[in-house]
Amino acid sequence: MRFKTRCVAHPKPSESLAHVEPLDLSTTYRTPVADEAARSIDAWAEGEAEAPNPVYARLFNPTVRGFEERMTVLEGGADSVAFATGMAAISALFLAARSRGGHIVAVPPVYGGTHHLLDSGLLGLEVTWAGPEQVDSAIRPDTALVFVETPANPTLALRDIRAIARAAGSVPVAVDSTFATPVLQRPLEWDAAFSIHSATKFIGGHGDALGGVVTTASQDAAAELRRIRIATGGILHPLAAHLLTRGLKTLPVRMAEAQRNAQELVERLREHPDVLHVLYPGLGGEAHLVGGQMAGPGAVFSVRLRGGASRADAALRALRQITPAVSLGSVDTLIQRPAALTHRIMGETARAETGIPDDLLRVSVGLEDVEDLWADLSQAILSTGLREPVQGRRRDPLLGDRKGQPIGAGQG
Ligand SMILES: *Cc1c(COP(=O)(O)O)cnc(C)c1O
Repeated sequence: MRFKTRCVAHPKPSESLAHVEPLDLSTTYRTPVADEAARSIDAWAEGEAEAPNPVYARLFNPTVRGFEERMTVLEGGADSVAFATGMAAISALFLAARSRGGHIVAVPPVYGGTHHLLDSGLLGLEVTWAGPEQVDSAIRPDTALVFVETPANPTLALRDIRAIARAAGSVPVAVDSTFATPVLQRPLEWDAAFSIHSATKFIGGHGDALGGVVTTASQDAAAELRRIRIATGGILHPLAAHLLTRGLKTLPVRMAEAQRNAQELVERLREHPDVLHVLYPGLGGEAHLVGGQMAGPGAVFSVRLRGGASRADAALRALRQITPAVSLGSVDTLIQRPAALTHRIMGETARAETGIPDDLLRVSVGLEDVEDLWADLSQAILSTGLREPVQGRRRDPLLGDRKGQPIGAGQG
């Protein structure tokens, strides 16, 4: 079966006559045969994927399992484990790493919440931040995980997964692939051990369900994550699992259309005199990965307007149709300023070090007619235009005077 067929097909034969997977909302299950229930509890506690009785919904839920099975098929993995949110999934991965040594090598930039979790000491982790070229020298005997995001949030920097896996040697590499979705990128095919998604984003696709999922290259790694999930309780709600499963069925169509819109907007913005810089996969470092590791550039880009953060905020206020909001991957276009919102928690210094300028605007492109999107963006840019005309290209402290090179590409 080809990818689009797999998105809509049932992942495995079912005895049920229902055409669509049933939604099971039970928190507890009847346990008339005490022995069987006891054996099931033992199996769940060991991290097994199947047992005769679910017993309790923190241990197992069939609707959630259905979503996991679909993700495993689409990512080409051995198994998947779903969580309440993307951060719950990432936390479970970090907790597993902690029990195996506790040192993590992370390649910046990453989502602000992930950066904070790694840097804050909340999980008692020891973290070395390393550029893609420094991964091998950052590895220590107690390194349990290499963590990387590609495309990176919010600079859209690309990382060569296979090169990082090679540098990591026997240490497993986890890739946050949220921006790409399995439609455009399947990290396990490029030697990653884990592919992670905030399913809240493109996978759900309609802005009405939170979720996270990790697909693993081995059964054992999934069992470890299930043991952590049972113990810590970060489970995916079955209603969310139902909505995320539905989202998967239209994912290829939504991605293709949103990407088409994004490509068109990026092209027009790059020609706009008020635009300092557009960041989009394929425009900057590691551009060759688009068409290989990543089938297409995706539906998220970032843009810097001339005039700094205050001009960026003014442009957000001037939008009439596009929604200023965090999150991404919805059917409609969302725009936000990461330094003010999604990457605020990591602090100014870390933002400067990882190449996230204050004036950067991140745009997640939706399924609207592209002409309506362009009309709204261009009127917002025009109505907040600089009073004094720009004399040539202004020198920028991060960029020099170049255009079309993403910030942070290939840097630590
Ligand atoms: C949103 C996001 C997360 C966090 O996911 P939640 O579902 O909000 O917990 C992690 N990584 C990336 C790249 C994200 O965009």
